[in-house]
Amino acid sequence: MIFFFCRLFGSLRSACQRVLDTVQGFRLLVRRLRYGLLCVLCLTLGACVTTSERVGSANAQWKPSPNYGQRKANFVILHHTSSDTLERALATLTSPRTEVSSHYLINRDGQVLQLVDENQRAWHAGESSWGGHSDMNSVSIGIELVNNGREPFPPAQIKALLALLSDIRSRQKIPRANFLGHADVAPGRKTDPSAFFPWRQLAMSGFGLWCEPPFETPPENFDNILGLATLGYDVRDPVRAISAFKLHFSPNGSDMDDADRGMLYCLVKNVMINGRE
Ligand SMILES: [Zn+2]
Repeated sequence: MIFFFCRLFGSLRSACQRVLDTVQGFRLLVRRLRYGLLCVLCLTLGACVTTSERVGSANAQWKPSPNYGQRKANFVILHHTSSDTLERALATLTSPRTEVSSHYLINRDGQVLQLVDENQRAWHAGESSWGGHSDMNSVSIGIELVNNGREPFPPAQIKALLALLSDIRSRQKIPRANFLGHADVAPGRKTDPSAFFPWRQLAMSGFGLWCEPPFETPPENFDNILGLATLGYDVRDPVRAISAFKLHFSPNGSDMDDADRGMLYCLVKNVMINGRE
């Protein structure tokens, strides 16, 4: 009898032990699986962080420095929207489908909207060039003015533009010569802002270059195309470069007359002597 109980008790104990071992084994398995999943997650996240944070050469060893900042614009490019209403322009400039934008949009009544942070690269200039820069989007702030291209720019809109330009210049320290039109940086491809745009008025407020007549007669050997290139124009197509210059400084006809040569010579001389500030 005693022997029977002893055997029964022993069987029960070993059965319990087996159950306990199984439970412990299961717990260990769960713990290992959890640890494994955690490791996979960490590695995945680590790979993601590395990929999104560092753009650079795969052959370079990553030794991060804290001494850097966001991009800083050094130009302002002005546009007209070619649309009749603010709503239509806003829809175009904010739709993912169009892939175009600007930092600011100014309505005819002077209302100013900001669409992109100034430290970010808005898609407003497209294929463009000025003074050796071949990607104006990377170095500029884009401002769109609501205007269909066939109408004058209302005083309220220009007043708001001048206030915005003062604000931008005080923060970004943009040189006077670097306030340009889209047509200036994309000659032949773009014709905005139109001939109605008051470049002279802007220059009188310190935004962009200008010269007032009477102009000094340029030397015989003064070359128009070299002069345009000195200002910053892309002169690979001289006819287009001249058209862009004319649209900005003398919107009449398509050829360079004596007054245009005088204006160009004066602008080049000012840049050579006084710089672009
Ligand atoms: Zn434009």
